[in-house]
Amino acid sequence: MQIYPMALMRLLLPVALVGAALWLRVFIDNLGTETRVVLTYLPYLLCATALFLAYQFNRCRPLLATLGLGVFYWLVQNQLQVSLSQPEAGRLYLAVSLGVPMLCLYLLLVPETGILNLQGLIVSLLFLFLALACVQLAAWLPGSSEAAAEYYRARPAEGYVLSYGATLLMALVLAVGMVLVVLRNEETEAALLGVLVTLYLTMALLQLKDISIVMCVAGGLCLVWGLLRNTHAMAYRDDLTGLLGRRALGERLDRLGRSYCIAMLDVDHFKKFNDTHGHDVGDEVLRMVSSHISRVDGGTAYRYGGEEFCVVFPRRSVEEAAAALDVVREQISGYRMSIRDRDRRPVRSRDGARRRGATRLGNSHVAVTISAGVAQRSEEHPRPDAVVMNADKMLYRAKKAGRNRVVY
Ligand code: GH3
Ligand code: MG
Ligand code: MG
Repeated sequence: MQIYPMALMRLLLPVALVGAALWLRVFIDNLGTETRVVLTYLPYLLCATALFLAYQFNRCRPLLATLGLGVFYWLVQNQLQVSLSQPEAGRLYLAVSLGVPMLCLYLLLVPETGILNLQGLIVSLLFLFLALACVQLAAWLPGSSEAAAEYYRARPAEGYVLSYGATLLMALVLAVGMVLVVLRNEETEAALLGVLVTLYLTMALLQLKDISIVMCVAGGLCLVWGLLRNTHAMAYRDDLTGLLGRRALGERLDRLGRSYCIAMLDVDHFKKFNDTHGHDVGDEVLRMVSSHISRVDGGTAYRYGGEEFCVVFPRRSVEEAAAALDVVREQISGYRMSIRDRDRRPVRSRDGARRRGATRLGNSHVAVTISAGVAQRSEEHPRPDAVVMNADKMLYRAKKAGRNRVVY
């Protein structure tokens, strides 16, 4: 299982937005009446924007989170601006304080299905069902036991309104979300966590004036930002490996300085590997290989296409780049990828000519090697495309010389 610790950087924006929201809240009082009214509607405007983006990009989880945020804001603005000691308001507050973490956990765990399809419909109906279940739970809980009621009771007098139980639930979901952020390396998880934190703070600090406005604005921005980042990833990142793709490489090549190296890498005998072990195992190997290449010292890796990769080394000599690549080459050649699980899967002969990963395999471990060619910018070859061509020539030499090597 791959872990992406750097994915935690995605949480920086939600944290910054929450910090800014808390700080800016105190200035709202200084605004004129008209600006205040506009501000009150800003969360709805952001929700509408996020809904539009989620629909356009066919993202079910952000869509449901946006709907949840919109309903939450409406409830806080219209139903919870009274004393929570009133039974109706108290019950609603309890339902929302249970619903926020439960629904957030649900959206974190459920796979992205898209919107206009059967799975999307099922995911949405379950979301609605869970929301209604939380309302039921809130009606049942206070009568179930005095201890439970106390544990989930709002505490308006203390400034921090949220009950112990709901606080614990929020903390648990936050922890699960952080784990998922580093495991999945995607944008949606960070945006969902941003929304969770903003809603948590709204609930916990409900007695602070204008807290729901600033927090729901921050939550809406998290969602809009996450959706925009998603589309950026769709355009610039390769789906299979998560590496930057050809478009990103093209833009990078256009703005390289005067000192750089470019390396072209290619998996050895990959066609034979695919034919022997199946395309699914081939894909897994590409993921493994690219995860090693992405960690190369001093360079940025791109998937060039198929089983070919390109690494750009700014301000590195060809010797330094080749040495860094040799480390990666050795790591890959020494890596034994387990394919045992596929051994146990049944053979599906109907899968046709292309042998899939379900094909029964003889070996339980596989290994692959890569070859690389490196070239540096020179007065003779000042343009990046010429350097790429040169690196390709070196790669060809590496293949000719017996593969599993770096040539420069
Ligand atoms: P060489 O050592 O000379 O590079 O031999 P090779 O077999 O690796 O070279 P070739 O370029 O002929 O084969 C590349 C193969 O990579 C063809 C195709 O089956 C496979 N391939 C390309 N893209 C993908 C992909 O996304 N997934 C999988 N599983 N295989 C791919
Ligand atoms: Mg090739
Ligand atoms: Mg190859």
